[in-house]
Amino acid sequence: MSRIFKQKEVIIKPKLFCPDSPPTKIVYNQNEPAKIILENNEVVWGSCLNCPDTPCLKYQEDELKNDAFPLFPQDNTLNVCPTEAITLDADSGSPTIDPSRCIACGICVSRCPSGAIYFKEQVVPPFSLSGKREETVAIVNTESNKYIREIEHDNQHDILNKLDSNKKLLKSLPREGAFVQETDELFRNIYSKITNISVDAQFPNLLTRNLLIQTGISCSIRRKGDVNLRMDAVLGPPGTSSGVLEVELAPIGILDSPRNMLDNIAVLHSRYNTDTKNLTPLIVSMSLPNSRTEYYRVINDINNVLNIKINTLTIGAFFIFVWNNVLLNFNKSSFYVDSEQLSIRDYVIKELGREINLSEGFYSILETEK
Ligand code: SF4
Ligand code: SF4
Repeated sequence: MSRIFKQKEVIIKPKLFCPDSPPTKIVYNQNEPAKIILENNEVVWGSCLNCPDTPCLKYQEDELKNDAFPLFPQDNTLNVCPTEAITLDADSGSPTIDPSRCIACGICVSRCPSGAIYFKEQVVPPFSLSGKREETVAIVNTESNKYIREIEHDNQHDILNKLDSNKKLLKSLPREGAFVQETDELFRNIYSKITNISVDAQFPNLLTRNLLIQTGISCSIRRKGDVNLRMDAVLGPPGTSSGVLEVELAPIGILDSPRNMLDNIAVLHSRYNTDTKNLTPLIVSMSLPNSRTEYYRVINDINNVLNIKINTLTIGAFFIFVWNNVLLNFNKSSFYVDSEQLSIRDYVIKELGREINLSEGFYSILETEK
């Protein structure tokens, strides 16, 4: 059973954000909650509204729907946080984050309508003998502001309507800025934490699914232990008409991914009658494989013989997209790498509209190591 649902009963007292002047946008920055900018130029810190549906903790079932593959036997886990770092505090009804489990993916931050969750450098246990360790992790701002009101007595129907329209208004606001600035040091910590954290076997697929959903692509992952299905997941609108996913976070396993992808495409075509011409094949790994491996030659061969272009993206690239509120559209963008094209840096720059602050070859997140 997940940590989220193991807790004692929590009484949530939802709140409304009711400023005097209409909100116009939300601006993110690291080390402080998001700023909500009002039409009269007043600035208000984003703060927790104790949402009854806790979008920072769990997806609604319809958010896991995939119109391209409605019958795919998917894992329906609703968990937002892939490491179960975020839970509800039974006394306050607000979420709380265990910094020792937070890998700074930004998924919960991107789902909070009021910008209450932000990244901050914090001292994180366990402390080493050489001193305290500081890491960038997510934290929830629960400090109220003058425009946050507890809901007064009302009938249940009116309460739900008010909460719904308040959330819709906040979600519709344009979002600017980044949750955190990417740096070599930040990724060194994150990649080390992902490698060492104790997680469920479904972690790679769950992390990738949630990163895809937050970047605008429906993703259905196969159930844990389902040996009848070969593919890790299938993808759907709005970010692609349809797609298939291989997730391989281990450095050795990634080398088999192009061949596995070919297998997946054949299965989708022959058993599910999928139109493979418009299918987005995507491999997600921690790092791009070394340039001397077979990986790129197999991708070349598949493209030359079958005219199928396999996309490759790294977990690090996805983190950068989520931190910057980027929505992907595979119908317009390509992340194709092969033996002639050993970098995804330009593709990522195109999506972000700016340069990336990551050294060349660093952990092979954007290009293969020299
Ligand atoms: S942190 Fe954000 S999403 Fe979570 S309950 Fe508070 S306001 Fe809602
Ligand atoms: S940033 Fe990611 S790992 Fe950290 S609490 Fe949020 S969802 Fe969990």
